[in-house]
Amino acid sequence: MSFIDRHIRAFLLTELLAGMLLTLRYMFRPKVTLNYPYEKGPLSPRFRGEHALRRYSNGEERCIACKLCEAICPALAITIEADARADDGSRRTTRYDIDMTKCIYCGFCEEACPVDAIVEGPNFEYATETREELMYDKAKLLDNGARWEVEIAHRLNADAKYR
Ligand code: SF4
Ligand code: SF4
Repeated sequence: MSFIDRHIRAFLLTELLAGMLLTLRYMFRPKVTLNYPYEKGPLSPRFRGEHALRRYSNGEERCIACKLCEAICPALAITIEADARADDGSRRTTRYDIDMTKCIYCGFCEEACPVDAIVEGPNFEYATETREELMYDKAKLLDNGARWEVEIAHRLNADAKYR
């Protein structure tokens, strides 16, 4: 661009006007951004978020303490202890911990579970202020299961034909 062209453009403010025209054009187009956290984008049924332990609809724990999830976890994040239950002798976990700071969200625990007990749910908003809060125990995981059961069941149904 010649010296004269540059000065003519600067004098007529053509670049400024082109920029404002562009802004005006985009002002009336549909927005592509979301006003998070008030608006959220769609999540795949396979999204691997916060872990949860599920119960059957009669309140019975699904987990049968087979320890397959613990064995397959590549991050060694799961710790299970099990014992026979006093009333009916069925094998149940007495301890089910997940160190969420170790977890790499691979989903292997969910895939290994024969009874869909441990799952990775849709919740991704569980940031904490301390490391200790990310040491999940059985009560916390069962609580997550109760809170997210509807969404989790819907996601498992949606993905069932591909499993
Ligand atoms: S998602 Fe992967 S790393 Fe995390 S607890 Fe499950 S198996 Fe372990
Ligand atoms: S969560 Fe599933 S895989 Fe893990 S111990 Fe319980 S039944 Fe077995």
